[in-house]
Amino acid sequence: MKEIVPSPPSIVRNDTAAVRDLFQKNVIPSYGRFELAFSHGAGSYLWDVTGKRYLDLGSGIAVCSLGHANPEITEALIQQSRKLVHVSNLYYTEPQGRLAQALVNLIGPGKCFFCNSGAEANEGLFKLARKFGHEEGRFEIITAQNSFHGRTLAGIAATGQEKVKKGFEPMVNGFRHVPYNDLEAMREAISPATAAILIEGVQGEGGITPATPEYLLGLRQLCDEKNLLLLMDGVQCGHFRTGRFQSFQRILEGVDGGAAMLPDGISMAKSLGGGFPIGAFWVRKPYADLLGPGTHATTFGGTPLGCAVGLKVLEVIHRDRLSENARVVGDYIRTELVRMVEHYPSVLRSARGIGLMIGLELAPNIPALANEEKPQSIQLVNRLHDAGVLTIPAGAQVARLLPPLNLRRSEADEGLKILESVVKALI
Ligand SMILES: *Cc1c(COP(=O)(O)O)cnc(C)c1O
Repeated sequence: MKEIVPSPPSIVRNDTAAVRDLFQKNVIPSYGRFELAFSHGAGSYLWDVTGKRYLDLGSGIAVCSLGHANPEITEALIQQSRKLVHVSNLYYTEPQGRLAQALVNLIGPGKCFFCNSGAEANEGLFKLARKFGHEEGRFEIITAQNSFHGRTLAGIAATGQEKVKKGFEPMVNGFRHVPYNDLEAMREAISPATAAILIEGVQGEGGITPATPEYLLGLRQLCDEKNLLLLMDGVQCGHFRTGRFQSFQRILEGVDGGAAMLPDGISMAKSLGGGFPIGAFWVRKPYADLLGPGTHATTFGGTPLGCAVGLKVLEVIHRDRLSENARVVGDYIRTELVRMVEHYPSVLRSARGIGLMIGLELAPNIPALANEEKPQSIQLVNRLHDAGVLTIPAGAQVARLLPPLNLRRSEADEGLKILESVVKALI
């Protein structure tokens, strides 16, 4: 049959260099990118533009919690976008109310605000803390060294790492950093101007360091004693990655007084939309109305589309018991990695983490990695790319595994086998 509308020109198969060229000419070079260009994915796998397949143990930095091209997420996007994509926050929409209800049920009595990213969620918590302390002239927020809280101006001020601040001084006022998991250091840092404390339950960018139960309970007590807000950044360690909705819930399991502990605010993003951009923060009940009408807003926050996807992600996690999967498969991977650490002490120093949030720390000064200028972590990640596995560096010495929550045991085995072969070659 004769075609009436000419078909579009066939897409020329791009190679990595051609895609990179587009970036070099047109995209601001603020990221250090790997020499990989991806075209599509399915489940725990990704394919690059040359057709090579990778096992994705990073899931877009803990974002694609149900894997790539998940058909149920696709269906939720299609269904909701046929009905309603956006109306603004001048009006009510049911999906936003229902997602807020679901998050409140998972955390505790309080309310939620929706935004678009982790940094924006933390910005909301900073504004909450300022509003909370305003009448008494308190505004300061104490955070931890090695923390990461996003790349906005207040986010880099809150982040306890010099590298994110460099060149962007002067910093937003009112942030100070103390060593993580050090309750005494926190107590000593509190000043008459302090309004809040903000920590991650498991430091992610800082190299996968979980808070101790004593630290979490101690901070809660300290905040009660000094009338401070206890804020937790759950952007990376939240959303069932540790085997419970929030990492503090997992860390405090079975600990005396742990079940009753609640922070006053929690930021969320990354896995919340399984790849669709959405962020949120939850505020505990006594403070849930502090941000009253007109005090905080964002155009795209909590659209019907984003919230429908967020609800679908939660539904699938519950139905398929992915929280349990994160525990079981995560424990298995960590146990196997600890075995590798014992087996290859000249290459690996430690394996740590909770659930599917795992850090593999390299031994210092590995001779096989001495020739290149790049940090050891980047060199390991590059070698894993060559072998067909994606992981994510954290600092100079750690490679992170943040796989989808539905990672199969067989996929874990495949990844571990490849990892071991790459580690072996570094002896
Ligand atoms: C990624 C991350 C952020 C920032 O989230 P964005 O969506 O990139 O703004 C904040 N805190 C933690 C702990 C993160 O891992």
